[in-house]
Amino acid sequence: MAVAPFPPPPLLASHAAVRAAASRVAASRTIRVAGEDSHQHPPQVAALRRGDWVKLICGASFEDAADVRNLSLVYTLAGVDCIDCAADKSVVSAVNEGIDVAASIVPEVQRPWVMVSVNDDCRDLHFRKAEFDPEDCPPNCSKPCEKVCPADAISLKRVMVGGEHAQSDPICDKLEDGVIMERCYGCGRCLSVCPYDRISAMSYVRDPATTAELLKRSDVDAIEIHTTGKGIGMFSTLWNSLGESINNVKLVAVSLPNAGASTIDFMNATYMIMKSNLEGYNLWQLDGRPMSGDIG
Ligand code: SF4
Ligand code: SF4
Repeated sequence: MAVAPFPPPPLLASHAAVRAAASRVAASRTIRVAGEDSHQHPPQVAALRRGDWVKLICGASFEDAADVRNLSLVYTLAGVDCIDCAADKSVVSAVNEGIDVAASIVPEVQRPWVMVSVNDDCRDLHFRKAEFDPEDCPPNCSKPCEKVCPADAISLKRVMVGGEHAQSDPICDKLEDGVIMERCYGCGRCLSVCPYDRISAMSYVRDPATTAELLKRSDVDAIEIHTTGKGIGMFSTLWNSLGESINNVKLVAVSLPNAGASTIDFMNATYMIMKSNLEGYNLWQLDGRPMSGDIG
């Protein structure tokens, strides 16, 4: 099971608040104790095999380190097996800081695996950001984009400009600020609500060299590779770019849409590429559609 946590929880101020939040989140779930289910496999893999694996998805494009840290703290206490985050140095550090604080509160809590999410193709909706220039917006717009955003990633304020030389430069107003890039996770909600068609989506591919460096860290346990299943060449390029660093992680997950019979062929071709230097566990996620890029 995967948990996408939006809207984000409020910032947590004290250990008491953290404990209260964790117990609400945990609800029916018992805090896992390190070493459980570890007869043959790590507890995270044992949970996968049992079918009750829970992964917190911070969002492949969500990069607000403070919220990521707090989400990681609460969900570690709630007993998740894995925390999936953006392949970004500061985000990975924020996840680990949250886990460390959770372990300082409940020392026996299971340390979740830290997974970084990357893509081989910019067509994957997890990897995009909304963008627009607020100065192009009519100042009297009712700002439905700001209201619809589930991540509070759009902030607009109306300001007065001009007026110093009133005759030639009359006072007028305009909108300022716009998309808070580190909070936008590319859900797409704002794109369709703008009455003036001012918002566009900017897609990107995570830099493989940066990812390769991240995989060398001892506090990164897993990688999720998002592929569209439409081009084995792009997967091959990414895989080769990651080089030997892929051997540092315990789990390689490949996420792709389930397109029916052709998906098996693609999986076989993908596996042939990975096989020669795949040392950890291998997980296939046939999501059908992106989960955190949730408005397709
Ligand atoms: S794409 Fe989603 S998260 Fe990003 S600004 Fe628009 S509504 Fe907010
Ligand atoms: S809805 Fe469109 S025009 Fe209105 S503030 Fe948002 S981006 Fe600008």
